[in-house]
Amino acid sequence: MVNIITYPDKRLKSIPHVCRAPVPQEILDDLLAVSKENNALGLAATQLGYNYRLILVLGIFMVNPEIRSYAGNRVPCKECCLSIPGKEFTIVRNTRIIVRYQTTDLETMYEQKYGGRISGIIQHEVDHLQGILINGQI
Ligand SMILES: [Zn+2]
Repeated sequence: MVNIITYPDKRLKSIPHVCRAPVPQEILDDLLAVSKENNALGLAATQLGYNYRLILVLGIFMVNPEIRSYAGNRVPCKECCLSIPGKEFTIVRNTRIIVRYQTTDLETMYEQKYGGRISGIIQHEVDHLQGILINGQI
């Protein structure tokens, strides 16, 4: 299985280009396998060294995800990251977001509201695609 890149590997700082072609199946398979193996709630392709704007959140692949707006309260939440094993961080995040993303074949674009836990997970994973770890705390 492909390895998870861990801090302070510089590849975690890489900012992938927008995906303009369907994501190869083997990359999707790797994300699914690593996510399952680690009981991960979310995973970004860059954590596996793939330079794709791709995240997997609670079983949903989101390609070229973009947070369109933030709403709700800003509340502290506990977060972990597979790339920083064994540590827990408290991060303040908005409880509600609207995210726009494409499906892995790029055929469909969704704009979806999310609230609660999943909203925080999406924000964490989208941060990865900006080369940001733990909201810039490290
Ligand atoms: Zn992470």
